[in-house]
Amino acid sequence: MSEVIESMRTYFASGDRVVDAPTFARGILAVQQGNVRRQMATLGFAPMSATTCLGVTLPDPDAPGAIAEDAPLRAYVNHGEWKVRCDQDYDVEFADLERPLFMCASHWNAHVGYRWRPVILPVERVAIERLLLRRPIANRNWRYPETVADLARDNREHGLGDD
Ligand SMILES: [Zn+2]
Repeated sequence: MSEVIESMRTYFASGDRVVDAPTFARGILAVQQGNVRRQMATLGFAPMSATTCLGVTLPDPDAPGAIAEDAPLRAYVNHGEWKVRCDQDYDVEFADLERPLFMCASHWNAHVGYRWRPVILPVERVAIERLLLRRPIANRNWRYPETVADLARDNREHGLGDD
């Protein structure tokens, strides 16, 4: 049983660089674009829906205006993993807890001009993780607006630690 609540940086292995949200999104986009280009070169056609990714360029998240501050998403824990779900197409990505930005790997945040979306993490994250780690992985679930007191009560009712 994992001893951490997994997030983007704990889940993915990498040779020498940190897998943060921008690195992840750029990498997935490059793979998708490469696959579409290869298919076009080999077959001479590809689904229209797949070719839209060829025109996508992700902004440097540090550039002015690169973050859609008015379109945040909340992180949640599902089966022991911090995730963020796109509210446009329900694509799910691992949350980057240190660089809390979201880029949907399905539609590339097209509806907000391909900008990054802020991810809202709970201020009680440490307490939430401590309580969840006392549970079997299948029951390591948390979602706003569930409180630390709610989690502690559930743990207590199931004979697990509540502090
Ligand atoms: Zn999406």
